[in-house]
Amino acid sequence: MNKVRHIDNLVIGAGPAGSVFGYLALKAGLNCLLVDFATFPRDKICGGGLTPKAWRLLDKLMPGIKYDYHPVRHMRFQLDDSPSCEFESEFEIRMTSRKDFDYTLLQYYQQAGGELLKDAFVSFEQQPDGRFLVTMRSGLQLTCNYLIAADGANSRVRRQLLGKPKDQMLFMEEYVPKQGPEEAFVFFSRRFIPGGFYKFSSIGRDIYGYRAPETNRETFRQMLKEFNIPETKLVGANISLHTVQSPIPNIILIGDAGGFANKITGEGLYDAFKTAYNARRAIVEHKPFCETNRQVFRKMKAEERAARFFFSPTGIKFLSFCIHHPRFTKWIFDAKMKRETFFRLR
Ligand SMILES: Cc1cc2nc3c(=O)[nH]c(=O)nc-3n(C[C@H](O)[C@H](O)[C@H](O)COP(=O)(O)OP(=O)(O)OC[C@H]3O[C@@H](n4cnc5c(N)ncnc54)[C@H](O)[C@@H]3O)c2cc1C
Repeated sequence: MNKVRHIDNLVIGAGPAGSVFGYLALKAGLNCLLVDFATFPRDKICGGGLTPKAWRLLDKLMPGIKYDYHPVRHMRFQLDDSPSCEFESEFEIRMTSRKDFDYTLLQYYQQAGGELLKDAFVSFEQQPDGRFLVTMRSGLQLTCNYLIAADGANSRVRRQLLGKPKDQMLFMEEYVPKQGPEEAFVFFSRRFIPGGFYKFSSIGRDIYGYRAPETNRETFRQMLKEFNIPETKLVGANISLHTVQSPIPNIILIGDAGGFANKITGEGLYDAFKTAYNARRAIVEHKPFCETNRQVFRKMKAEERAARFFFSPTGIKFLSFCIHHPRFTKWIFDAKMKRETFFRLR
């Protein structure tokens, strides 16, 4: 009979959360294996924007990391038919191509000695000794002490633990050749609350995106028409805005699998890195993840409240005020970037 292979830390998903966790785990001397069903480099529907707090955190976690990006400092916001509020931010947003960026992170893990297995997670079962027996689509079975779910917004590990995810929000995007100014532009409207339409100037292309409570091809098409953007291929993916904790201590949900995306903007890369770091800490320090990740869980609750305010009638009035006062908005924007960015890692 074949002996089942044992891995201390088995990671499902080799996206940013999984690869960063794997890299940090190896650097801490932990044994670990990443599993992903995709063939890398693989694409991911995403704006690919790294805010200053995200790229600075990544610099701290993976010192000296190099990746391709297109810097954007020109910010533009609009609410319905208000004039645009525009300014140059003190800080750059780094626009990446997720296909290349994710592959770079994975290569750092592999160069640190990490192994990637191409297979799909199907299910786990906890054994009497506390270990998990994990079954893959190929029929392969592995055992592990920790199961790290980094398998994205439609996480199968999360489904087995907690059932169908709540509060999934569909984001749609299209990619077109560059035209017009280099900018990050966000358009809000009282017609779709909570939601937004955006443009990011990225590497060699512009990204247009849209999310609203009822995002679908037709509503996105209408938005593109309003802004005179030619229609090419429309794509969409879910973001889970509901943050969850695993009820089993040695199963840790990180990144989109745990619903760690910003409740207003959908930004998820920063918290993919941060939760990966906190998962590594939990294992190395023999502490529960709910403790090492406490600040992030608190922040997610605060973001839920902030999102309710932001899209309330009072919030929209405040947004309108900001849009009519670009100097004030620049000051708040830069101060927020500065405050969130210069943090200590604990
Ligand atoms: C339209 C859109 C725009 C966005 N724009 C931004 C942005 O500009 N900036 C930002 O910070 N965030 C953005 N986000 C959010 C960001 O994309 C996610 O937060 C980020 O990808 C989370 O990383 P992750 O590693 O948790 O998951 P993912 O990147 O989704 O990686 C999950 C990995 O798991 C693998 N996988 C899944 N299921 C299995 C399985 N059963 N077995 C094996 N492998 C599996 C997948 O192949 C994948 O490689 C956007 C999201 C969307 C949808």
